[in-house]
Amino acid sequence: MTEASIVGSDSSIASASGPEIEEPPGSNSPASHLLLSEKLRAAARTVSAESAVRVGEFQTKASPPVRMMSTGISARIDGPHVSADKAHQENPLTTLFRERFFPDTTDADWDDWRWQSRHRIRTLQQFEKMLDLSVEERDVLSDGGTLLPTAVTPYYMSLLDPENPLQALRKTVVPTTREFIRTPGEADDPLGEDGHSPVPGLVHRYPDRVLLLPLDFCSTYCRYCTRSRVVGHGEIQPNVQRLEAIFHYLEEATQVRDVLISGGDPLALSDEKLDWILGRLRAIPHIEFVRIGTKMPAVLPQRITPELCAVLRKYHPLWMSVHFLHPDECTPEAKQACTRLADAGIPLGAQTVLLKGVNDDVEIMKQLLHRLLLMRVRPYYLYQCDPISGSSHFRTPVSKGLEIIQGLRGHTTGYAAPTYVIDAPGGGGKIVLQPETVVGRDGDDLLLRNFEGKVFRYPDPITESI
Ligand code: SF4
Repeated sequence: MTEASIVGSDSSIASASGPEIEEPPGSNSPASHLLLSEKLRAAARTVSAESAVRVGEFQTKASPPVRMMSTGISARIDGPHVSADKAHQENPLTTLFRERFFPDTTDADWDDWRWQSRHRIRTLQQFEKMLDLSVEERDVLSDGGTLLPTAVTPYYMSLLDPENPLQALRKTVVPTTREFIRTPGEADDPLGEDGHSPVPGLVHRYPDRVLLLPLDFCSTYCRYCTRSRVVGHGEIQPNVQRLEAIFHYLEEATQVRDVLISGGDPLALSDEKLDWILGRLRAIPHIEFVRIGTKMPAVLPQRITPELCAVLRKYHPLWMSVHFLHPDECTPEAKQACTRLADAGIPLGAQTVLLKGVNDDVEIMKQLLHRLLLMRVRPYYLYQCDPISGSSHFRTPVSKGLEIIQGLRGHTTGYAAPTYVIDAPGGGGKIVLQPETVVGRDGDDLLLRNFEGKVFRYPDPITESI
């Protein structure tokens, strides 16, 4: 079953029926991108002149702001005072994109997550109307893509640079022929999840906690996805029979106290289905802790509605891991989504994958982490990119991750510093990586290195046991 068919096959998920893309007038013209660029540049000048957009609340003298587009326009939040109360939030890039490609779409439709899901950009013809495709992008899209399906919400597409295939966000969602390259050590299931699955859609690797996959659908597919072997293939559907088999397993597994519901993206389910799943889990007495992993606040913040939050807040303690990669994802729309979740009492932790050419830079990472704090999200894990088949172009050396952690610890708010981990291939679990701080011992003193590289003594007598 295809990714397209699962979208339409379950009424609880946004239907794929209806027009995929509203035809933009004149978009078939070869000059259309030039016109767009000119328009964006003109708008950038206007917006800058009116001081309506500022970039980089946290920029430092040593670190000029990262302009996300050649236009110089930024979609980012620029401080803690963006109002989350106003129902319709829209960053300047999205406004320009809508004017160009969806001129007749109302705010109500644009803000409707089901409308966004129905209008995802998925085909070569759709992509080439909106982006100047590189040869590598065009070739893979015209070849029918890779194992991992391609889809981008109109909202997230509005944040992509139409001219620059090397733009960070664009690299993470638009496929290239590099995904066809396999390097030693890569695997389709590097974490060995399939070998720990007692029931389809349930991974039980650790005694006291499980991973529940309610579906394999995501509104936008990340090109480095650890579950690229699964997502979008339509094999994990949110039907009652399969989910009941999982609940029955969990009722018997009395050692399980923690359930992580993750991706595919659980928030692609309807409010009603989520309500049912969370209710069933909460009815199992030994399950104390439920977490949801989602990328919706970054790729489809319109999904975080007051109605969804009303459902989620019924099931506390409920925690959420939100997936953010880059400061350009931290828009007013994303901030509103995170604010709504935080106001519903849900602790938010960020999961970030370290990706070459996307966020493998101390200053970019710092900007991301600072903006996450503004959005009431605590940076949690920084993941070394898993050795998934076809992902070598995204993977950095481990030394780069250590360098970033070294550049964060002591150099910014402690809350902003995530834990750098490798998910050990073959099911070894998460292993924490950190720069060496204990450098030796001198008698009763421990020798410790601080964030500036200076060595300090800490009295730590070696006591003999009696
Ligand atoms: S949202 Fe998560 S599960 Fe979906 S494609 Fe991205 S990384 Fe994979």
